[in-house]
Amino acid sequence: MKTTKVAETSLPTPLGTFRLFGFQSEPKTENVLALVMGKPNPDEAALVRIHSQCLTGDVFGSERCDCGDQLHFALSTIAESGSGLLIYQLQEGRGIGLMNKLLAYELQDSGHDTVEANEHLGFEADHRNYDLCAGVLRHFGITRVRLMTNNPQKFDALEAAGIHVVERVPIEIPPSDGTKEYLKTKKAKLGHLLSNV
Ligand SMILES: [Zn+2]
Repeated sequence: MKTTKVAETSLPTPLGTFRLFGFQSEPKTENVLALVMGKPNPDEAALVRIHSQCLTGDVFGSERCDCGDQLHFALSTIAESGSGLLIYQLQEGRGIGLMNKLLAYELQDSGHDTVEANEHLGFEADHRNYDLCAGVLRHFGITRVRLMTNNPQKFDALEAAGIHVVERVPIEIPPSDGTKEYLKTKKAKLGHLLSNV
């Protein structure tokens, strides 16, 4: 998949000023953002987080999931270390889209877990793909990463796309009453590496 840079600009935030990039895949099927702090050094493995858009968590601070906290944790960690990169995938609800995610929440309200709800709607539990992310990393000359994730599928997908994951950096947010069951399901059914649920 060919990855094309669409735009590059500066994004001042309370954590510091990031460079914000927009990328699209060729053919034009998918867009991602990259927030970059510092200059990637080809001699070192870059600190990288791949975050999937979660409107309800990222914007509204939903306590149904830990996405908003993970996003803030990742950006803070990158800002503190002075260099790194967050790829923001515009793949809402593990790739099923926002309206379908809301329908999945409806099903969860009546007792289904996050994986069952997606399957009820006819989707795989996790519908994302990571080819475009690998293309973005290559754009910056990054071939080795320290990946902030609890999701083994992400490092397998990056390795398959030719990006070497030299280290996994855990990104564990302590569970709340609202996220405990959600995180248990992620651990049991999606194989997420979580030590405190
Ligand atoms: Zn979320």
